Amino acid sequence: MSRTAEANARARVGVVGAGQLARMMGEVAHDAHVELTVLAEHELESACDTCDHVLLGGARDEVALRQLAQLVDFVTFDHELVDLDVLTNLENSGLNVRPSSHALRFAVDKAHQRRELHARGLPVPRFLVVRTSDDAELAGWLDALRAEPVVKTPRGGYDGRGVFFPKSRAETVRLVDELGALGDVLVEERLELVGEFAQQVARGVDGSIALYPLVASVQSEGMCVEVRFPAGVSDAVLAEAEDLTRALAALVQPVGMMAVEYFLTDEGLVINELALRPHNTGHWTIEGVATSQFTQHLLAVSGQALGPVTTLTTNAVMVNVVGGEQAGSRDDASTVAGVFVHDYGKSFRKGRKLGHVTALGDHLTDTHVRAWKSARLYGTAAKGA
Ligand code: ADP
Repeated sequence: MSRTAEANARARVGVVGAGQLARMMGEVAHDAHVELTVLAEHELESACDTCDHVLLGGARDEVALRQLAQLVDFVTFDHELVDLDVLTNLENSGLNVRPSSHALRFAVDKAHQRRELHARGLPVPRFLVVRTSDDAELAGWLDALRAEPVVKTPRGGYDGRGVFFPKSRAETVRLVDELGALGDVLVEERLELVGEFAQQVARGVDGSIALYPLVASVQSEGMCVEVRFPAGVSDAVLAEAEDLTRALAALVQPVGMMAVEYFLTDEGLVINELALRPHNTGHWTIEGVATSQFTQHLLAVSGQALGPVTTLTTNAVMVNVVGGEQAGSRDDASTVAGVFVHDYGKSFRKGRKLGHVTALGDHLTDTHVRAWKSARLYGTAAKGA
């Protein structure tokens, strides 16, 4: 096939948002037989370096989204800061939005997610959705808890933004009223966590499913610091996660990748969050699994068959590189044996996610040490070591 004919054979996928997830989709797009266009706020965004085409415009702007949809066959997402009504309009005009607005609602709106999952008997923290502290149910509901609750804004939060841990009833009441002035407030039981875990699942347009293994994640101040495969839990917990993740895929019906974040408590797994896109806890799949979450997402949204999810390593440790006191060196980070360094092409700023490193190996502790050594050389704030 000539180069032009080959390019024509590629599916055209448009990504709403141009952050590091779209950047990593761009890195594998050609292998997945996809031509990638990103909708970016500005030309310096992370994904603009790796994609085939850039369209400038906002993720919530219907005009920009319609322009994107004219250039591509399928529209997908790098984040969930989107307007579901606008997406429904696009779908009603016959455009291929994958995942659909129906599925995306589970990730965009935590209150919707909690209500739907609870109604189907799936394990979520005890919760209440309120608008003001005068709510008739709130006082009695708070009295029944053992500790102050977690207070969340159901929409627009990420990396711990929009999640609050009040220390007193007065603070809880103040938070509910402050946040309630802007919209719904999700108030939920603060669980005693044994650990945090995540599982990725891919779903094709034909409903086929590919399940990735459960991983352990370490969070610090709401941000994922480290991810470990294997998860280091019993076969019973692995089986419980698999059942829940399959049930969630059947309920949500995503097309593309879905990540499920779990809390492990004394009573078993509790579902925290869903993301309908590649996710930070799945970055290790680039080197650790036969089909990475980025390739898989593009295969699925463009209607191709899902790839195999055989694991290629006995242990993997992924560490996020977050700007510390001063910038480190990517070259130095790459000198650590068996470590793969990923740079998101962003300028250095303290507290900013700049990249990640993944170490593979036969022994978990050794793999862990190498991942952190590399991340520190790169300049991580290294909170979770
Ligand atoms: P984000 O959407 O910003 O990722 P999450 O809802 O995942 O926010 O919360 C961030 C972190 O806060 C979680 O990873 C967990 O450590 C903690 N957390 C959230 N909800 C609860 C809860 N109900 N009980 C205990 N810890 C929680």
